[in-house]
Amino acid sequence: MARFIFITGGVVSSLGKGLMAASLASLLQARGYKVRIRKFDPYLNVDPGTMSPYQHGEVYVTDDGAETDLDLGHYERFTGVSARQSDNITSGRVYRDIIARERRGDYLGATVQVIPHVTDAIKQFALADQDGHDFILCEIGGTVGDIESLPFMEAIRQLRNELEPLQTLSVHVTLVPYIAAAGELKTKPTQHSVRELASLGIKPDVLLCRAEHPIPDAERQKIANFCNVRREAVIPALDAPSIYSVPLQYHAEGLDAEVLRGFGITDAPPPDLSAWNDVTDRYFNPEGEVTIGVVGKYVGLPDAYKSLNEALVHGGLANRVKVNIKWIDAEIFEGEDEGEIVSQLEPMHGILVPGGFGERGSEGKIASVRFARERKVPFFGICLGMQMACIESARAAGFAEASSTEFGETREPVVGIITEWMSEEGLQQREEGGDLGGTMRLGAYEAKLSANSHTASMYGGATSISERHRHRYEVNSAYIEPLEKQGLVFAGMSPDGLLPEIVERPDHPWFVGVQFHPELKSKPFDPHPLFAGFIAAALEQSRLV
Ligand code: GLN
Repeated sequence: MARFIFITGGVVSSLGKGLMAASLASLLQARGYKVRIRKFDPYLNVDPGTMSPYQHGEVYVTDDGAETDLDLGHYERFTGVSARQSDNITSGRVYRDIIARERRGDYLGATVQVIPHVTDAIKQFALADQDGHDFILCEIGGTVGDIESLPFMEAIRQLRNELEPLQTLSVHVTLVPYIAAAGELKTKPTQHSVRELASLGIKPDVLLCRAEHPIPDAERQKIANFCNVRREAVIPALDAPSIYSVPLQYHAEGLDAEVLRGFGITDAPPPDLSAWNDVTDRYFNPEGEVTIGVVGKYVGLPDAYKSLNEALVHGGLANRVKVNIKWIDAEIFEGEDEGEIVSQLEPMHGILVPGGFGERGSEGKIASVRFARERKVPFFGICLGMQMACIESARAAGFAEASSTEFGETREPVVGIITEWMSEEGLQQREEGGDLGGTMRLGAYEAKLSANSHTASMYGGATSISERHRHRYEVNSAYIEPLEKQGLVFAGMSPDGLLPEIVERPDHPWFVGVQFHPELKSKPFDPHPLFAGFIAAALEQSRLV
């Protein structure tokens, strides 16, 4: 049976628990262990699919079509282990399932309660699908003391009692703030947080103390004494120069060794950190730089495009260059001043229009595609970005009213809703105007590539690929012919030949639009070929301008 690591956070939110969990998992993996990471989200949404990216950052989509918390993206990028639906649970999902069962009469007249019914469901989730894993890391969202997370804490408490003594470990992430006026680090918030956790019946085994300044030995000892852990189990987690330094940094502070010790494992093989050494070497020693303009909607909040941001950096790692990202609000290209687009986009070595929803900014995005096409600047359109590229080409082909039905009725629906499509499970159907939650083409779908296409060559000659989707609308295949005449090539289609998956332009140095989200599968040690190709093209462009 697997060993379980429960990761909680205290003092404040945004301590980077997700990154910490991903880093610890990657360190255990580097020692040869099979790991899996799970996220428990205490909010009442059934999944993050309907949450605004402004509030909750991006929605991370898994191969099996789950819309999950963005932390699962960190997990996957750091471990290479594909996340699944069964790796993310929310209070909303737990309650939905319990209430459905109650309505069916499954509880046979019993009173349905938080303890035991909700806590049992949480425990089942933690224990499910262990298939040969050595460690399952469970990150609890939120901060200790939140009302919402109480059932999760109780479930952990029970599990720690029910499983074997050396089968579970509690890691608590806290903050050790620096008070500039006093010139001191303060341990009290950590003490309070640990006390709060202890009052819920959970004694932490390892404390990961986030701090902006080195934690002196005396303070480390003090935390150990007051919080009832070994001094070595108080791990300083100083702010890192890059997220890619975090695994190496935590390893140097002894995190993985201490965790293994907590499980009584003394004979673990040393970690093979060569992949992380290579990633950090490439990241910190670039041989050039490029600037990419991302023309989108949620540009004020970098978390809204988390995976995209990472995938662009990975493209840089593949080419040993630093990637500067300029986030541009598409709406600024819709104003009176036509010079705006030139002044903003001219300095860019590549232009990317990312995924998105709704009409806002769409004309600005279309204008950006046009700029990239006409000026022969490398262009990458992702999901909505590919749809905008097709609309732009349709307009160039003379369909002046080309648009998407997502933005309202149009006489030229170059992009339209589909109500039926095939998936591995067979025919999928939805109604126009149906529920917004869970009605998209979601998760991994195969695409067939034309053997002689530019895209196939970037995929190493592959003619069949699998990529993740999250969209409701599709490029309308009725327009393929006129668009191809205009110069846009449909280089990838769904296996049944009905849904366009990839477009490219042979008359352009690098112009690719994809209906899927390649950024979701890129890893620092395995950059996605399309991002590697895009950044390589941007590097070429930087030599021209
Ligand atoms: N809004 C578009 C659709 O639903 C694109 C979605 C996306 O970019 N993820 O089809």
